[in-house]
Amino acid sequence: MLSYDVLIVGAGGGGLMAALEANKNKNVKVGVITKVYPTRSHTGAAQGGINAALANVDPSDSPEVHAFDTVKGSDYLGDQDAIEFMCEEAPKRIYELEHMGVPFSRLPDGRIAQRPFGGAGFPRTCYAADKTGHVMLHTMYEQCLKEGVEFLNEWYVHELLIDNNEAKGVIAIDIRTGEVHAIKAKAVVFATGGYARVYWVRNSNAIGSTGDGIAICYRAGIPVKDIEFVQFHPTGLRSTGILVTEGARGEGGYLINNKGERFMANYAPNKMELAPRDMVARAIETEILEGRGWGEGMNAYVHLDLRHLGAQKIKERLPQIRMLAIDFEGVDPIEEPIPVRPTAHYSMGGIHVEDYKTSMTPVKGVFAVGECACVSVHGANRLGGNSLLDIVVFGKPAGAAAAEYAENMPEDTTYNYKAEEERAKAEIEALLKKEGTENINEIRTEMAQTMWDKVGIFREEGPMKEAIEKIKELKERYKNLAPGDSSKLFNTALINYLELGNLLDLAEAIAVTAEMRKESRGAHARRDYPKRDDENFLKHSLAYYTEDGPKVEYIDVKITKYQPQERKY
Ligand SMILES: Cc1cc2nc3c(=O)[nH]c(=O)nc-3n(C[C@H](O)[C@H](O)[C@H](O)COP(=O)(O)OP(=O)(O)OC[C@H]3O[C@@H](n4cnc5c(N)ncnc54)[C@H](O)[C@@H]3O)c2cc1C
Repeated sequence: MLSYDVLIVGAGGGGLMAALEANKNKNVKVGVITKVYPTRSHTGAAQGGINAALANVDPSDSPEVHAFDTVKGSDYLGDQDAIEFMCEEAPKRIYELEHMGVPFSRLPDGRIAQRPFGGAGFPRTCYAADKTGHVMLHTMYEQCLKEGVEFLNEWYVHELLIDNNEAKGVIAIDIRTGEVHAIKAKAVVFATGGYARVYWVRNSNAIGSTGDGIAICYRAGIPVKDIEFVQFHPTGLRSTGILVTEGARGEGGYLINNKGERFMANYAPNKMELAPRDMVARAIETEILEGRGWGEGMNAYVHLDLRHLGAQKIKERLPQIRMLAIDFEGVDPIEEPIPVRPTAHYSMGGIHVEDYKTSMTPVKGVFAVGECACVSVHGANRLGGNSLLDIVVFGKPAGAAAAEYAENMPEDTTYNYKAEEERAKAEIEALLKKEGTENINEIRTEMAQTMWDKVGIFREEGPMKEAIEKIKELKERYKNLAPGDSSKLFNTALINYLELGNLLDLAEAIAVTAEMRKESRGAHARRDYPKRDDENFLKHSLAYYTEDGPKVEYIDVKITKYQPQERKY
């Protein structure tokens, strides 16, 4: 049986940072398990950059201003102690990344360059052209290889094993052989990324951003926090939803409607295109809904105009954006505006982390970092550039804490891994033999379209109740769905089937918690409750899994020194 002291599930930036740190503790054996090859993790798609108040461009910036911007951006739902920690740590983590070898773009004097980003008081976003996540992920992976971190690549984690409220390990499938394994681990760190693929129909995420770790923990009894908060990025390419980084607006891009107006003047006159994402996404949707866009239905759009930036700046700072616009829209941004519309992008909610210093969940030895976790530093709306920061800032202490926990944990000789493995094997065997009557694409598309239409950028009680019923119906139909491929080797049909099960559980949790939150806050915008209601909802939601749907509780937000104010930009 495979056995580790610390098993990290996920090899994106969060998982690799935790692995590097855990691996420094020479008394523990560390392993990383990932369903895709590490450098294919979604972190590699991050474009615009990572925030830290280095004050390289504007000396007035400071971690304190960064913290205030983040608290305000979160619509006061973020935990302020964790936010202050993140913003204080940020400059140290940037220099650590730089020393690892991340090739950040530079100012003429050689210091790390910083660009303006949405909701930020100063140019604070460090970047490497528009490929920041790519270079971070590759550099961290190189460091892991150099340090001899062990990887299980192309293994799918299917279950978390818990006994007596303590981590025991996981059940995983080796995708290449189809073998099912119980893997022993004293500490399990989830770093499995987000759940934005619930909104499959318009999405900026990797195909694999299916919220697996969140759903696995949820079903194992760990609550998910603030799951109703989903970020829609303002600028996805019209036809695919592929991301056009906020950096394009950071570099000076304009949003234009069919009347030729820079319409952000009507929504956020001070910040214009660099208002926070929730506001810009709503502004674009409103323009489209009120007939000031182009196109119809899911293909409607407004323009992102970069032409005035000039060919040189576009080629130098936004080369990937130019390539994506040419390849996927047939539009060269040097010559023509890019057709864009909001796209499902980021999961503010996630696995409930109780202590930001360790990232431990309510189950001992189970940790969560990165997009799958809810610390919570993003609250109701994440600021661009704060997620790459979140993964490195919290990945590091989580790795250290997991190693320390495992080091002090005596060897378990009683837990029956063999029995768990046999049970899981039998369940997967049965799935491979299952005969189904349903079609996976139909269920997935109906789920995604329902969530997009009824629990999307604008929300309202009636449609959300319909969505809850629809997801329940789809969960019933899922019982009659079979993977449809009984082979063992690289059975992607089986993986897709399991991932859809995860998405359905999370879609239900999103819809139920969203319907219960009778206010508008950050990305959760209700037409029937347009105001924020601090009296009743300045609270995190915690959803617990039950067979009949989520059971929801609320806990207080941690406030240090920033009292809630009205959020204007
Ligand atoms: C297109 C795009 C651009 C972005 N740009 C920026 C930006 O400029 N700045 C910023 O701050 N943020 C940005 N973000 C957000 C940020 O990139 C992500 O939130 C962050 O990288 C997530 O990192 P992670 O380590 O949590 O997870 P990921 O990088 O998503 O990695 C998840 C890992 O978990 C593994 N995994 C998942 N499920 C399983 C399973 N069942 N079994 C085994 N392994 C599993 C995967 O194989 C993968 O290795 C962007 C996001 C997108 C989608």
